[in-house]
Formats: sequence, C-alpha cells, structure tokens
Amino acid sequence: MTEMNKMIATTKAYACLDCGKCTAACPISRYDSGFSPRMLVYDAIHETDIEIVHDDRLWQCLTCASCETICTSGVRYGEFIRTLRGDASEQGITGQCTHGGALQSLMHIMASDDLKQNRLDWVPKQLETATTSDTLFFVGCAPYFDSFFSNLEVKTRRAAQGSLALLNRMGIIPAVSPDERCCGHDLLNSGDIDGFKKLANQNVKEISKTGAKRVVTSCPEGYHTLKVEYPRYLGNTGFEVVHLTELVAEAVAKGELSFNKTKRKVAYHDPCRLGRMSGIYDEPRAILDAIPGLTVVEMSHHRGTALCCGTQSWINCGAINKQLQVDLLKEAKATGADVLLTACPKCQIHLKCAMHDEVLGQDLKIKIQDFAGFVAGALAR
Ligand code: SF4
Ligand code: SF4
Repeated sequence: MTEMNKMIATTKAYACLDCGKCTAACPISRYDSGFSPRMLVYDAIHETDIEIVHDDRLWQCLTCASCETICTSGVRYGEFIRTLRGDASEQGITGQCTHGGALQSLMHIMASDDLKQNRLDWVPKQLETATTSDTLFFVGCAPYFDSFFSNLEVKTRRAAQGSLALLNRMGIIPAVSPDERCCGHDLLNSGDIDGFKKLANQNVKEISKTGAKRVVTSCPEGYHTLKVEYPRYLGNTGFEVVHLTELVAEAVAKGELSFNKTKRKVAYHDPCRLGRMSGIYDEPRAILDAIPGLTVVEMSHHRGTALCCGTQSWINCGAINKQLQVDLLKEAKATGADVLLTACPKCQIHLKCAMHDEVLGQDLKIKIQDFAGFVAGALAR
C-alpha cells in the first residue's frame, strides 16, 4: 500500500459516497465553482501522488470543518487536507504566505532552542501568576498579535488578561511560562509537521517545568492543538487541557461568580476550532446568560453552521476570503448587537482587517471584542 493509499484509508476518504453535501456546506465552494471538497477527495483517490501535491486547491481550504461536520460517511477531511499539505510541503510546495511570510518567520524563530523572550509583559500588576502550579495558563500568540496588527487596532492581549482575571477570581493562581512558544497550529495546518513538532516538544518541556497537570487556554486554536494534536503526534503529554469557558461555566453554574448589570446587546461568534472541532457551544452562552441585563442574540449562522472568519494559518488570503469576512460582519450587523464577541484572536484580526478595508468595510463597523476580556470586564468588584 502506498503512503497516499494509507492516508486515504485512515481518513476514510474511500468511504466517500460522492453525495456532495460537503460541497454544499463549503464556504469556498459558495464563491468558487472550481473548488469542491468532494472533487478533491475523488481526485486524491484517482490521480497520481505527483498530480495531487501540485494542486492549488490544497491551499484554498480553510480547514473550517464545515464539510467534515456534515459528512455522513465520516470522511476526516481536516486530516486528509493536512496530510496532503504535509506531502506537498516535503517537496517544497506551500501555500501563499500572507503578510510577506512574517508570521511564518515568527513561528520558526519561536522553534529555536536558545530563544530569549520577554513574554510576560502583558501580565497586569494586580493579577497573580506563579512559576509552579497545578494549573498552567497557556497564553498563545496574543501578546505578539497586538504589536504586529496595531494598525487594525487589534486587542487580543485583553483575552489573556481577561482569562487571568477570571482564573484569579475563581481562586486559581496559574503558572505562566516565560518561555512558552507558539502552539504550532499554523505550521501543522500548513503541512510543516517537523516545525510543528519542534514547537510542541518545546511547549511540553516548558509546561512540565511548572509541574502543571492541567493546562487552561482561551485561544481555540491553542485549545484544540494542545488537547488533540499534541497527544496525536507526541503521545501522552502528562497534562489535561481545558478551555477557559469550561471552567468559568462550571463556576457560574455553582454560583461562584457574580457580574455587574449591563444594558449591552452582544452576538457571540463560534470559532471553528472551539465550535465545530471541539463541540464547545453551550459554555460561552451559559456564561453570557449569567450577566444580568445582557441581551445575547444569535447570528443567522451559529453553533455548528457558524460562518468561518475567512482565512487560516496565514496562507492564501484573497478576494473570496475577504468576501467571507464581509458575510460574517453583515450577519453580525443584522442582529442589531452593539458588540460582536469571539473567543479567537485570529477571528478578531481577520474581521477587523475586513472592517478596515476602505471599500469593503464601509457600513460594516461593529465593535469586536474578545470573549474573555468582555466577561472579565463584567465581573462584579
Ligand atoms: S459529504 Fe462526505 S460522502 Fe459526501 S461527497 Fe463529501 S466527503 Fe464524500
Ligand atoms: S474544511 Fe471548510 S473550506 Fe475546507 S473544504 Fe471543508 S468546508 Fe471547504
């Protein structure tokens, strides 16, 4: 059996019934009739390895899991596309890096052994962290994003600060690593498996130094990568991974957190990694419902059908990707909400990017805020 045939078997691509449900659900297919997940599965089965790794469609996919969620044959499309990208990457073929490849460079720099970082600048003086603890808060790349995307007025650092405030209020003083690295999500999803493994091994080593047996994340990509991909590629990591909203929802249910009254109206966006890929839909909503006076409205597409923020892993951002961001912003505006909340820093960046577009962004202005920062801001003093 060739490597390609093995991959087709493990991802259940052979089970494809050619029904086309995936194509009907795919956001890229909606705007590009030449793109179809069904056809890519068919072509991978019937074409040669050489033909398929040179196929540009490999890099168009958003890895949003809309197809995988709807497929009744259980085709694991995310893994399928990632494996094909890995094969392509081994032959030096990659997608088109956005932002001049600066973010890919940052990820590779972070993989160096002798890296010197000033990583804890974001920790507010009034909040507590520890060097060793049962629980570690995995911060993610938010502290870098605010600097890199300052022109878009991105405020992803508030996600980290809000998360820490919520953890402290729940009586948790988490370890925060001064030498944490990028979780590796984007390298993995771009097919750079070696680069991903380097970052993952460094993070596991750093986490073990703190003695933590539980890792809390607020970033959906970090959550899914640490929880699902680290064990898949590295084996047992020695820690469990929970999403911040799981802990906060539990505290809310026990009546351990109280919030100030507000008159705001918010729409909550389900990020692909937290919703479709991790099944965390109820927790964020239960937390928002606990804030007195807060009106929570749903966008037309929410939970499993939530729209994707349009691009991924800092590759291939073009006209269709921008259109998908515009579609999401239009849905948010149509709710009449004064704030659009998302738990994902990348969603915030991509949506703000579309909003700042001089032509497309007109009439799409809406306040976009990080979920953890918003909830922490509502905590009663
Ligand atoms: S939904 Fe599943 S079975 Fe149907 S065409 Fe797509 S991959 Fe094949
Ligand atoms: S993961 Fe999303 S973008 Fe990629 S083929 Fe499936 S539905 Fe389309």
